[in-house]
This record gives sequence, structure tokens and C-alpha cells, in this order.
Amino acid sequence: MSAENKAAPMHRNYINGEFVETRGGDAIPVLNPSTDAVISEVPDTPAAVVEDAVAAAAAAQPAWERRPAIERAGFLRRIAAKIRENVPELARVIVEEQGKVMGLAEVEVAFTADYIDYMAEWARRIEGEIINSDRPGETIYLYRQAIGVVGGILPWNFPFFLIARKLAPALITGNTIVIKPSEETPNNAAMFMKLLAETDMPAGVVNMVYGRGATTGAALCENPRVGMLSFTGSVATGSRIMAAAAKNITKVNLELGGKAPAIVMNDADLDLAAQAVTSSRIINSGQVCNCAERVYVHKDVEAEFVEKLAAKMRAARCGDPLADPGVDYGPMINRAGLEKVAGMVGRATAAGATLVTGGAAADLGAGNFYQPTVLTNCAQDSEIMRAETFGPVIPVNTVESLDEAIERSNDSDYGLTSSIYTRDIGNAMRASRELKFGETYVNRENFEAMQGFHAGTRKSGIGGADGKHGLYEYTQTHVVYLQS
Ligand code: NAD
Repeated sequence: MSAENKAAPMHRNYINGEFVETRGGDAIPVLNPSTDAVISEVPDTPAAVVEDAVAAAAAAQPAWERRPAIERAGFLRRIAAKIRENVPELARVIVEEQGKVMGLAEVEVAFTADYIDYMAEWARRIEGEIINSDRPGETIYLYRQAIGVVGGILPWNFPFFLIARKLAPALITGNTIVIKPSEETPNNAAMFMKLLAETDMPAGVVNMVYGRGATTGAALCENPRVGMLSFTGSVATGSRIMAAAAKNITKVNLELGGKAPAIVMNDADLDLAAQAVTSSRIINSGQVCNCAERVYVHKDVEAEFVEKLAAKMRAARCGDPLADPGVDYGPMINRAGLEKVAGMVGRATAAGATLVTGGAAADLGAGNFYQPTVLTNCAQDSEIMRAETFGPVIPVNTVESLDEAIERSNDSDYGLTSSIYTRDIGNAMRASRELKFGETYVNRENFEAMQGFHAGTRKSGIGGADGKHGLYEYTQTHVVYLQS
């Protein structure tokens, strides 16, 4: 590190209720993506220290599970309350290291507290079953138990919320957890742990280790005492995690990437569709797994829709959200993210796509900014229609019918979310039935509810999160045959 960055704070792992200095492993600098300035450091935690965290979680688990669920809910609610007391500071930390705008960061923090409270409400609702027996005098019953130690591995795009999406269902069902945040965004995770440490949470129930995927993440995946790996991130990493989990037959829950189609029919409210697609690409600079990443527009309305979409995209202003609170969106997470988006747009136009607006990095100093970009004439088999872009870029493909739109939508490696804009109930119903995705949004932007079930088909994942079905992912069933 250079001399001027020496003051950047080094975060300490949180293991067994203590913030501990980490032995071994180099330091990873954390950058502000708007300026590329170093703002903190984290250790690249080696396997031996990950083992300490897993051991602490394993030791704390039986007593944690023996507590009545309503007591566990109390601990969760006290964390949620701490988060609510610290919204402005938490939001500022997220903006600084991740680059989203302040309003969205505040929503993320508030939603995180609500999510923890929502999962706490399940304390009195987790249910088993009584099953009729074939034998006289026998009762068969099924109940749900904790799995044990959960390993939670997180991405950087909603870094604070995703801690809660793993931690809250894991804890209310009696598991303990070791969390590895993304090395891009550890500062908000460190604040989460600071707030958690101020509550009366028993030692070892929640542990956090920082580091790179290949070292700290891999060590967590290979640890035989981890009973479940709950991962959110890219397909490539999900595949590696599944391979590592295979060694110990560890359960995996994978929330992976998306390439969500938005179908715009010739009977759609085009203003609504253009607005929703624009906000999909602008929110968090387009770095959202469930947001519309490709459009199939009916040929009758193509020209009008593209004009409306381009006008709205053109009007979106990017910049450093801390320096200029009025911007609509911030930078890509890092230089590699910017280069990925720029490369994909360059290859799309070289392959014959038409650039309607944007198409270049935004010249705003050292940060990783990209212009809002609309492309038309994008072939179904082109990279820009098939690979996750994760940037403020929307490719458009023209279709002649709903059949064609559905077929092209389903023709994808990804199956996370999808949307349709239409005023025809028949179109809406048929698309809802025939789109093979975890979620379909009809005449609205893509944004899931905590009581729903967020899950992907194909390479978008295994298992899912939220609601009753997401909660039960963190349990295993135990069936008892009781002869009396
Ligand atoms: P990523 O896969 O690069 O990294 C995610 C995490 O995995 C990081 O903590 C990283 O350190 C870790 N990791 C990397 N290699 C590992 C390994 N070999 N073993 C264990 N851990 C390893 O993803 P990202 O760039 O942080 O996030 C963006 C991706 O996340 C996008 O594809 C996006 O679609 C996806 N995402 C999906 C959802 C969803 O709900 N489906 C939500 C948010 C983000």
C-alpha cells in the first residue's frame, strides 16, 4: 500500500464473540469505486482461522438450538433495533464502498431491519406434521430441526441486506453461522458485527471472516463441520462452491445470476414499460440480479417503445453519489466491472447491434462510471442477449408474437426473474404459466417481497430465499415413529 493509504483501518474478524487479530494472510485493500481511493483493508483470512470460526459456531449451536425459538427471535429483534438506530451511518458506509445512491442505501438498511423482524416472527409458526400410521398404536410425526453450522458467502451488490437474508433464517431455525462478506464491500459488514456485538447475542452464534473467495471462501466450503453453504453470487463461483461441497456432501443453497427478459406487448402501457425497464438498468447502476437485462418488444410498438426507453435512459445521470447527491446512479463496483460492461457493448455493436444512446465509459475522473446505454437489433444468440451484463445497458430484440417472446425468453442459461407488460389478461396469464423462471412480474418493476420465494431455475440457482419456503431451506426434517 502507498504511504498515504497507511491510515486505512484494518477490519478484524469476529469469532466467538470477540474481534480478533488475524494471523497469516495478506491485507486486501478496499476501494471507493467512485474515486478508486483506498478506504480500508481486510485480512485474507487463512483456513486455520476459518476453522476457529467454524469451531466456535459448532460449539455454540446445540445450546442455541435448545433455546425456545421465541427467545432466538428476541436476539434477532434487538439486532434489528440497533440497525434502525444507525441508518444514516450504515447507508453512508454502503455508498462509500459500493457506489449506490444514498436513497437506495437507506432503503437497503431499513429493509434489512424489517427482514430480520419478519424472520423473527416465524418463531411461533415453524410447523411439523403428524402423519397417519399403517400400524395400530403408532404415531408418526415430522419436525424441523436446525442443520447445524451455516456458511454464508456474500456478494457486493446488496451487501448489508444479504447478511440478514442468510443470518435471520439460519438463526431463527436454530443454526449458527459463519459469514464471509465480499472482499469488495466489507465495511458495512464490519459495522453489522459492531452493532451485533453491542447486543446480548451469545458468543459463537454469529461469526464473520473476511477474505478472498479462493482462500477464505474456499476454506469455508471445504470445512466438514459446515452443514449448509448459503451462497449468493455468480454462476461461475456457484459452480465452484457446489464442487467443493461435493467433497463432504454439504447442502448448498445457491442464489446466482440472472438475465431477466422483459416482454413488451403491442397492447402494453409503453410509458410504464419504459419507466420500469429504465429503473431496472439504473438502480444500483444495473448491478441487480433480478432486474430486466434484455427486452423482447412486439414489432408493432418497437419504434415508439425504443424512443421512450432511450429518452428515459438518456436522462439518467451518473456520478459519485457522495460528492453529488443528485445523481441517479453511481459507478460500477470496480475497474473489472466497468471493463466487462464496455467490452460487452463493444462486441455487441461489432456484431451488428445498433447503438441508440450511450455506449462508452462516462468521463468523470478516476471512478468506474458507464453511460446509460440502449442497443437495438440485438440478435437472440448474441452475447449481449445471453450473458449477464450487470451494468446500465439494455439490449432490445424485436418479436412478432407472444409465442416468440416466450420462446426466446426461456432460451437462456438463466432462469431467475422475468416480466411482461400487457393489458391483455390472456397474455398475462399465458406468460405467467409458460415463462420458466423463478419469478414473473406483470406490469411492474422486478423487486421481490420478503414473504415471497426468491429462487432461480436453470443456472440461476438451487433452493431459494425468503418466506416460508426460504426459511425451511435452513432446516432438515426429522421423522419419528413412536409406538405406544
Ligand atoms: P462472485 O461470485 O464473484 O463472489 C461472491 C462471493 O463468493 C464473494 O464473497 C467471493 O469472495 C466468493 N467466492 C469467490 N470464489 C469463491 C470460491 N472459490 N469459494 C468460495 N467463495 C468464493 O459474485 P459477485 O461479483 O460478488 O456478485 C455478483 C453476482 O451475484 C452476479 O452474478 C449477481 O447476479 C449475483 N447475485 C445474485 C443474487 C440472487 O439473489 N440470485 C443476488 C445478488 C447477486
